[in-house]
Amino acid sequence: MNPIKQGLKWGYTQAAARLGAHRKHQAEPRLWVLMYHRILPKDDPRFALEEPGMLVTPATFSQHLEWVKQEFEVVDLQDWVRKAQQGEPLPNKACAITFDDGWRDNYEFALPLLREHQIPATLFAVADKIGSDFRFWPNIVSELVAARAPQLANHPYFQEAASLAERGFDREGIARVIAGLKQYSEVEIFAALEAIGWQQALAASEPPLMDWPQLLEMADSGWVTIGSHTCTHQRLDKGLDAAALAEEVEASRVKLEAWLQRPVPLFCFPNGDYDAAALGAVEKTYQAAVTTRKGINTAGQGNWHELLRIGLHEDGSGTKQRFLAKMAAW
Ligand SMILES: [Zn+2]
Repeated sequence: MNPIKQGLKWGYTQAAARLGAHRKHQAEPRLWVLMYHRILPKDDPRFALEEPGMLVTPATFSQHLEWVKQEFEVVDLQDWVRKAQQGEPLPNKACAITFDDGWRDNYEFALPLLREHQIPATLFAVADKIGSDFRFWPNIVSELVAARAPQLANHPYFQEAASLAERGFDREGIARVIAGLKQYSEVEIFAALEAIGWQQALAASEPPLMDWPQLLEMADSGWVTIGSHTCTHQRLDKGLDAAALAEEVEASRVKLEAWLQRPVPLFCFPNGDYDAAALGAVEKTYQAAVTTRKGINTAGQGNWHELLRIGLHEDGSGTKQRFLAKMAAW
């Protein structure tokens, strides 16, 4: 980065950390919801192929938990929502931790840290994929690019991926390829991957997501509330028919409740995407839901099914100053 850009970024971070919303007093109680995906050490082989925006290391995550305790009152998301809905007293500045998808690394690296810091969290699980060897398509595409799989050139969807494979894998490049592919639906992308025979190009791997005993152990730990993140992680803005929508929204809750033997009152939209029909189905089925839109919630906001969050990742959240700058939600 050139020195001018670096200086501007430094100034911005300083200003956001010092003047952001977390520093201002506001009479109405507010809630910051932090969004995490994967927790992996840098030397873990799973780290190298993941998009930068998906990861935080255990050391950084542990620091975040420490800073959260210093700056906020840490709350359980479901508990905060219930109190807000019933007009009960709430802390002035509350913060809730969330994890999306149900990655096995959350069980390995996040659960011990939540226990150590005694911090509650909510984990949104993809109901049909827990306990399976399901791989998310962005990971499959990443691995194909890293393996320089010649098959990529055989499908129009993967032309950008094929040219990245030719130039050589890099994490910024793969993030761009994945962003470009999001114009297609999950079904379309998986059909394209099948068409190029991705299984033949990649070795089998350890299942990326947790199995049921691990998810149950998270729930039984007393620190983790499980929410639904649909059955198959389809993005809900692609005009799904009523049956498919009911499966993703309603059946995912039924399945998780049957496995976990406890209520599952919260929902998380895959990729933060939804249309009016999806929002309606979620409003009917859940007490509240989280999006990926950036912002800070207030106790009186009312739209409980479109809660705002702040995404955290390793790059740009490693110092307290930078972490606090994120809390400004600018
Ligand atoms: Zn997700």
